[in-house]
Amino acid sequence: MLEELNLLREMQSLDTEIIKLKTLIEKAPLKAIEGDASYKEASSVYEQKKSELAAIFKQKKELEMAAEEKSDRVKKLRTRSSDIKTNKEYQSHLKEIEQAEKDFRLIEDDILAIMEKTEAIEKTLAKNGVQFKQEQERLTAKKAVVKKELEDAGKELEFLLGKRQKLVRTITGKDMGTYERYMALLEKKNGLAVVKAEKDVCMGCNMSMPPQLFVEVTKSEKLVTCPQCGRIMYYAEEANGDENN
Ligand SMILES: [Zn+2]
Repeated sequence: MLEELNLLREMQSLDTEIIKLKTLIEKAPLKAIEGDASYKEASSVYEQKKSELAAIFKQKKELEMAAEEKSDRVKKLRTRSSDIKTNKEYQSHLKEIEQAEKDFRLIEDDILAIMEKTEAIEKTLAKNGVQFKQEQERLTAKKAVVKKELEDAGKELEFLLGKRQKLVRTITGKDMGTYERYMALLEKKNGLAVVKAEKDVCMGCNMSMPPQLFVEVTKSEKLVTCPQCGRIMYYAEEANGDENN
């Protein structure tokens, strides 16, 4: 086979890998935060429940203080009973005690209701906390995986770029024009300049070519381009098992 074609095939195979790695590296930051929405959601639900609980604790504390106040008032009123002179005064005093006791019981009822509510919130909060922790762990694990992928891809890319540099020197050492032609095609044709031809079909654009042209491709004596897409074509027998495609 024409050495030039062999070198270009090798170059294409390298460039395909390089493009793949560059895409992977570009997309890594996006991949790392994938699923971030569900983490944010879990975090916000959890924080909201926490502040709900804090608010209800505050409410409970206020009620407890009010209850204590009422209870003190009842006690004070009762100790004052001995100072009362007239029956009318006594009746109104009893009424006052009764009202204070009633107020106290109402506050106690409110406290009970709030305790039930607190319990329900605490239960939900525990569940939200577990969900949030799971999301946190999931995100951390995912970021670690992406970081490792990124590191590996970076190393591999560096290695391939080194290999590519050597290959460029080999190709341009033979013919600068061939490399320029390849590069122009690579840029114009979406990263694919050298393609396989199979049963007179170009694998770059999937169009068939005249049988005569395919015969030329199979001979591999010169660079043959696809009349449809302009890519450089090569022929590889199926049975040989081609490592590039
Ligand atoms: Zn083509």
